Amino acid sequence: MNTVTRPRILVVGAGFAGVECVRRLERKLAPHEADVTLVTPFAYQLYLPLLPQVASGVLTPQSIALSLRRSQKYRTRIIPGGAIGVDLKAKVCVIRTITDQIVDEPYDYIVLAPGSVTRTFDIPGLTDNAFGMKTLAEAAYIRDHVISQLDLADASQDPAERASRLQFVVVGGGYAGTETAACLQRLTHAAVKRYPRLDPGLIKWHLIDIAPKLMPELGEKLGRSAQEILRRRGIEVSLGVSIEKAGPTEVTFTDGRVVPTRTLIWTAGVVASPLIATLGAETVKGRLAVTAEMCLPNHDGVFALGDSAAVPDLAKGQDGAVCPPTAQHAMRQGRHVAENIVATLRNQPMRPYVHKDLGLVVDLGGKDAVSKPLGVELRGVPAQAVARGYHWSALRTNVAKARVMTNWLLNAVAGDDFVRTGFQARKPAKLKDFEYTDAYMTPEQVRAHVEGTGRIES
Ligand SMILES: Cc1cc2nc3c(=O)[nH]c(=O)nc-3n(C[C@H](O)[C@H](O)[C@H](O)COP(=O)(O)OP(=O)(O)OC[C@H]3O[C@@H](n4cnc5c(N)ncnc54)[C@H](O)[C@@H]3O)c2cc1C
Repeated sequence: MNTVTRPRILVVGAGFAGVECVRRLERKLAPHEADVTLVTPFAYQLYLPLLPQVASGVLTPQSIALSLRRSQKYRTRIIPGGAIGVDLKAKVCVIRTITDQIVDEPYDYIVLAPGSVTRTFDIPGLTDNAFGMKTLAEAAYIRDHVISQLDLADASQDPAERASRLQFVVVGGGYAGTETAACLQRLTHAAVKRYPRLDPGLIKWHLIDIAPKLMPELGEKLGRSAQEILRRRGIEVSLGVSIEKAGPTEVTFTDGRVVPTRTLIWTAGVVASPLIATLGAETVKGRLAVTAEMCLPNHDGVFALGDSAAVPDLAKGQDGAVCPPTAQHAMRQGRHVAENIVATLRNQPMRPYVHKDLGLVVDLGGKDAVSKPLGVELRGVPAQAVARGYHWSALRTNVAKARVMTNWLLNAVAGDDFVRTGFQARKPAKLKDFEYTDAYMTPEQVRAHVEGTGRIES
């Protein structure tokens, strides 16, 4: 018999939104007021904006993986696994644990914060040949992969093979793609000095985007500055261009160019986690449609936020505007949802979420950066100081802050050793393998499972 009478709050996802929500709930609610449970496949919160620096070896993977168990005062129960379906009627979340067991977790309040996955299109060969830049494993894999291209090109006697191994293509001119191309280009530029047999002139990075501008959020002048920095570094930026098809040794651009390459990094946007589709509820471009209080209409106790939800952007003052999928919003929404849950438990009114965007920082590696904090346009060292200062202060734990700062200093003084770990060398490296996008149930399967009429392979 279940003797627990405390309300059960279930938070799905330990990213920016989920962790901030849990921490605020732990602070605001006494243990007797509610039980808090967190479902997460990993034991850390990933600081995604610094992922390109892991791929390029400036930071070690551990420095941006923030432990969920560092402090003694945390009391949340953590279920190691991923939610694969939610039955809103029965108030049950179906979870596949990391040992592949299927567990049904009932809740009174659910906070959906599973973030997003890489957005792909129906381009021949894309999902089989492209790497994403959304997970720690992908960043570590890409680092090994890029270094292995230099190793293999160095060992090869075949000029065609050398040429294809030394060309790299990044698709997506948003901040993720631009930072990835810029940071990795610095990696190959520095590494090639350790390969005296390789002609540095053969190394070529391409950054392409179907849009006419890089990072339009930066505005005309700053966007042009970013493009100039990339061009100066030898990165070929092609705008108004996408991929027509992708193969293991070459990529065809929509402008007809065929680029021999073994490295295609796809960062052309994100879509909400496939978990959202299992709800069978209304969505806006795949993100769950919620109110400004981040509640799902007509479903008591269901909250959604971060990249997976279309939260109205009240600060923009335009009808239909939704908050962009950024860490800046996700963190604040996490804290705000916690406050709204506390208010509900205490029979107080909920408040709508309002946050005016603070701007954008783009770290292009070394002394190169462009930033627009509070509308002020910065370039070079001041922009870099703002970018690094912002990220550093946004890291949640002091240990992570110390690790990141030490890594930055060490890298600035001693450089990189370009070590290829080989940990994942023979593992599948496709987009879906890293992001588990085919792990989810359909709304009908969720229903049948919760009613006991469906079976899921475990
Ligand atoms: C390379 C890169 C650079 C970026 N740079 C910036 C930047 O400079 N500034 C900025 O503001 N934003 C930046 N972003 C965007 C920012 O990281 C996201 O908007 C932010 O992480 C969204 O927070 P979230 O909590 O919604 O999702 P996430 O932080 O992605 O967290 C989602 C969590 O849910 C977990 N999860 C996923 N599916 C499930 C499931 N089924 N069950 C349980 N758990 C699940 C995931 O493992 C993850 O821990 C960047 C993103 C990338 C990829």
